[in-house]
Amino acid sequence: MRQKVRQQAAAERRKNFNQVSLGLSDEQARAEAKRCLQCKEAKCIAGCPVGIDIPAFIALIVQGKRKEALAKIKEKNNLPAVCGRVCPQEDQCEKTCILNKKDAPINIGALERYAADYELNRPASEHRALSTKYRGKVAVVGSGPAGLTAAADLAKIGYQVLLFESLHIAGGVLSYGIPEFRLPKAIVKTELDYIRHLGVDIQVDVLIGCTFSLDDLFNQGAQAIFLAVGAGLPQFLGIPGENLGRVYSANEFLTRINLMKAYFFPEYATPLDIAGKVAVIGGGNVAFDCARCALRLGKDTELIYRRTEKEMPARGEEIENAKAEGIKFRLLTQPIKILSDEKGSAFALECIKMELAEPDSSGRRRPIAVKGSNFKLGVDTIIIAVGQSPNPLISRHTPGLVDNPDGTIRVDEHLMTSRRGVFAGGDIITGADTVISAMGAGKRAAMEIDQYIKGSPGN
Ligand code: FAD
Ligand code: SF4
Repeated sequence: MRQKVRQQAAAERRKNFNQVSLGLSDEQARAEAKRCLQCKEAKCIAGCPVGIDIPAFIALIVQGKRKEALAKIKEKNNLPAVCGRVCPQEDQCEKTCILNKKDAPINIGALERYAADYELNRPASEHRALSTKYRGKVAVVGSGPAGLTAAADLAKIGYQVLLFESLHIAGGVLSYGIPEFRLPKAIVKTELDYIRHLGVDIQVDVLIGCTFSLDDLFNQGAQAIFLAVGAGLPQFLGIPGENLGRVYSANEFLTRINLMKAYFFPEYATPLDIAGKVAVIGGGNVAFDCARCALRLGKDTELIYRRTEKEMPARGEEIENAKAEGIKFRLLTQPIKILSDEKGSAFALECIKMELAEPDSSGRRRPIAVKGSNFKLGVDTIIIAVGQSPNPLISRHTPGLVDNPDGTIRVDEHLMTSRRGVFAGGDIITGADTVISAMGAGKRAAMEIDQYIKGSPGN
């Protein structure tokens, strides 16, 4: 039987930011690993965007070789402790596991986390340092999963890698977006230490496009540049009142919590004005992260979504976790106006009820407004989590860099942009996607950049 991962009890965890999932015990991990059939043509491998040899690492766990299991994963995945926690395995490797046919699939995510957690609390110096005789120099822009993966792979091949990050802490969404209770920052730090130990020089507080242009990076000796600047531009609803006080984009809200420790005000000078009742608008993973953070800050929190629970894009696991913690759902509801108090802050939402019509281009049933069903909802803080767009700064400031109408950067089949030697990957070319698909892009980019540099004159 598939092992059930231990969790912090809902009644407790709703009051703290500690990790919800406690992972598998040694016994559970062995028992789960023993379920694996060690398929000769393992379909699970094809389901993994970075191609981890899943049966091989699982076999090592059966033999009690946790360190070796981790080494096997790291042949393909530079951020296993992250992926073991946040990858939507149910849509990827676990979906293709043969055991779906007769029982439940192997809990590959939990086993990956089990192997990866071996390394927690062990110094990065245990990792093998790489040669300092470089083949060339590459600049990577953006330190999310795409940038970190490309940087690590390029360092492993033998390049000197300079990684630039505009925020004061590296990690991209892993640091500023995904909350502590799903992905502890200590784990992101361990993964970053590993990448630094590979020789990658991570420089924070550098906004490429402003501090340095792409030409500056070439002039400083970079032979190629990888743009991995993500999709961090918040989308809004376009309704009246969105610029009132106590109305936040999901990005601002999560960044203040994750990176700026707003909840420790005045110890940290980053107040988070989150009075009274909180409404989070949206039904994706980001909306759930916001709602669960607001709840942990002691607020009565309601999630407002215009379709039904069935159409929510969030992972089923997160929906269930949120429900157990006490988040309320107001479904088939669309906000149309935010109302202001006398001080210019939000104090109510005007909404309209929705019903579902035929499916739209996303395959989900299209919500349409029910005429005359407007109503007011008393809420004091509003968090808008209805999607993110690609970061536009670099394309705006780089002549000759072509983007698409949706703001994604245009690349060819080698991930090269319209500027020679400039590559791009991750959310900046796909729009908001997943950690593992960004990592897959980072891996491919490292390979393409290596080919490009090797094929350039003088090499
Ligand atoms: P990002 O992670 O966005 O990193 C881009 C980095 O580039 C950022 O650090 C940014 O500051 C930096 N940058 C931008 N412009 C510049 C510049 N001009 N100069 C220098 N640096 C710059 N996916 C999952 O698989 N599972 C989840 O559970 C999950 N949860 C999520 C929760 C939230 C709140 C969010 C927002 C996303 C979540 N995702 C999840 C999606 C996933 O995190 C992203 O798809 C992934 O991080 C994209 O990686 P990336 O490297 O392309 O970009
Ligand atoms: Fe094991 Fe499932 Fe992969 Fe087969 S498909 S090797 S059972 S994890």
